[in-house]
Amino acid sequence: MFDWSAIDTVLLDMDGTLLDLHFDNHFWLEHVPQRYAEQRGMSVEAAKEELGRRYRAVEGTLDWYCVDYWSRELGLDIPLLKAEVEHLIQVHPHVLGFLDLLRRAGKARVLVTNAHQKALQLKMKKTALGDHLDLVVSAHDLGLPKENPAFWDRLQQQVRFDPARTLFVDDSVPVLRSARTWGIRHLLHILRPDTRQPPRREEEFPSVADFRPLADGLRLHAHVLELGEETGG
Ligand SMILES: [Mg+2]
Repeated sequence: MFDWSAIDTVLLDMDGTLLDLHFDNHFWLEHVPQRYAEQRGMSVEAAKEELGRRYRAVEGTLDWYCVDYWSRELGLDIPLLKAEVEHLIQVHPHVLGFLDLLRRAGKARVLVTNAHQKALQLKMKKTALGDHLDLVVSAHDLGLPKENPAFWDRLQQQVRFDPARTLFVDDSVPVLRSARTWGIRHLLHILRPDTRQPPRREEEFPSVADFRPLADGLRLHAHVLELGEETGG
């Protein structure tokens, strides 16, 4: 699928790519409306309608991904509410094996997420994903979301990577377009961010439903590298 000898760095999205988006979907579409309705004495249906409008108004901006913004806007303790349903945080199948193969093949593994530091912390604690990564970067530290092509300039000031020798994996089409506009060479779209939903259809970017095909190609590449080392070639 990819020529791994042409790739040094792998930039990886978190929610929907490494982690199951079921947690986030359930949290924003069910759990928050439930608690918001209780607090306001309104029906859950009315809460869903109002929140849907408010979500759409800031979609793709840093506010949309900001835990503090939503705590303030909705008058709810968003980190506490997330902790209430943290049992739903799950790593996607085949992800940990894939990350370990990347290390074996000598590739840099960088998590690049729009998630707020507080959400990131909860997810790292719950999954120990950090043990399988070389670096973790939150867009909130850089002041721009990944949807903005200028985000990648700021990322490059923090992390050394050659865009021509980098693979970026994400489940968001607007984010992949931003990375393509800026000049990242290898792009991959995850078609099944939420394992409770059917896979999406996409033709704009190379795509996979999960990491198994990548792990297979990489296993072969790592094996060839190790054979080369053994024979001194
Ligand atoms: Mg994502």
